[in-house]
Amino acid sequence: MTFASLGLIDPLLRTLDSLDYVAPTPVQAEAIPAVLAGRDLMAAAQTGTGKTAGFALPLLQRLMMEGPNVASNSVRALVLVPTRELAEQVQQSFLTYGQHLPLRSYAVYGGVSINPQMMKLRKGLDVLVATPGRLLDLYRQNAVKFNQLQTLVLDEADRMLDLGFARELDDLFCALPKKRQTLLFSATFSEAIRGMAKELLRDPLSIEVSPRNAAAKSVKQWLIPVDKKRKAELFLHLYRSQRWSQVLVFVKTRKGVDELEAELQRQGISADAIHGDKPQPTRLRALQRFKNNEVKVLVATDVAARGLDIDDLPLVVNFDLPIVAEDYVHRIGRTGRAGATGQAVSLVCADEVQHLSAIEALIQQVLKRVDEPDFIPDHRVPQTLAGGQVVKKPKKPKKAKVVGGGKGGSLGRWLESDEPAAPPIKAVRKVPSFGGGPAKGGRKP
Ligand code: AMP
Repeated sequence: MTFASLGLIDPLLRTLDSLDYVAPTPVQAEAIPAVLAGRDLMAAAQTGTGKTAGFALPLLQRLMMEGPNVASNSVRALVLVPTRELAEQVQQSFLTYGQHLPLRSYAVYGGVSINPQMMKLRKGLDVLVATPGRLLDLYRQNAVKFNQLQTLVLDEADRMLDLGFARELDDLFCALPKKRQTLLFSATFSEAIRGMAKELLRDPLSIEVSPRNAAAKSVKQWLIPVDKKRKAELFLHLYRSQRWSQVLVFVKTRKGVDELEAELQRQGISADAIHGDKPQPTRLRALQRFKNNEVKVLVATDVAARGLDIDDLPLVVNFDLPIVAEDYVHRIGRTGRAGATGQAVSLVCADEVQHLSAIEALIQQVLKRVDEPDFIPDHRVPQTLAGGQVVKKPKKPKKAKVVGGGKGGSLGRWLESDEPAAPPIKAVRKVPSFGGGPAKGGRKP
């Protein structure tokens, strides 16, 4: 299949050619014709599947071919996203894909001055990418009008709800024209997301390009049991012994992020950090430095877990397991993108076994355990079973079986092998069919 056969116009085809996009990804193959035909969409697409182009390309084309010129303070297409970083990234995609089209796009989000955003909106915009809170501010100050709105895109809808944006979204939906096209993208589908879809979408085309809640198949995943207090030491050991080139590390708390960043810098490793307490320009700079390969380790809370596209990122480390199991899928989705292979390793201590079993139930896979010889934990991590069960009484500690011996032998061997991750298993505990985890409101990483 080619992009031309999907009905895209020449200026877009030229751009795709220059980007070396040879063929549409599965989500693009389904989404592009449907969006061009004006249909609503409900898409369950994993990160890294090319979903941004899946909505941006046909949307740009529709804006080119249909509708009036944009009036002042108006927008014709609105893309709502959960985080500031994602807003910038999606806006960059619109700029790239629309480089041969005379359309205006811009991103607005909180944490930066509102005045330049108001100025920019004065002339009107064909595409506005926005986080919900700032957009509502702008709307309440009459800086943006929605009467010309043709299309609404909700990107990473589940994340917007996780971050506590439900109220802002409701207020915004009330302000939008009823007659419009709506595209909803979400990695996971909780009850709340399904409710939202029912309310907003009209006869939507449902697209599901990957198994529900499945972690990317192209990512090799494993865990290393370790005592909590030795995690930083183990990370440093692995970083050096495995000669990791670039790594994104997820830590549970902001304090934990700062501590690990400081420790890495003390050890002479170039590291930067992203979390919710840092000012927006600092966050963007850290991300850019990481993307430019100027820093080797980026330490982050889950604020960085979704949507960020980092070319050729080989490795994600879960220094702490996420409390919300779905976040695991998003974290490891930072690697193994667009057909590349990636690796995701979790450093797991005994306290985290419940989080581990919830993750394993969600991804329907028991993560492979690889003992690191010098770091066998005093507090053993209880065994987990298929379906998210924990074996209550751990067996008597026994010496780890080290394949190949020597420092890092087992891990190194396994990484070099082509051995697949543990095969999918049948979940015993029932996982909600659309992945509806526990309600999580107002959590800001
Ligand atoms: P996304 O899932 O939208 O974040 O896209 C993930 C990555 O895939 C981005 O770096 C895109 O530039 C890239 N990409 C998207 N579509 C294609 C395609 N058809 N061929 C090659 N790369 C693509």
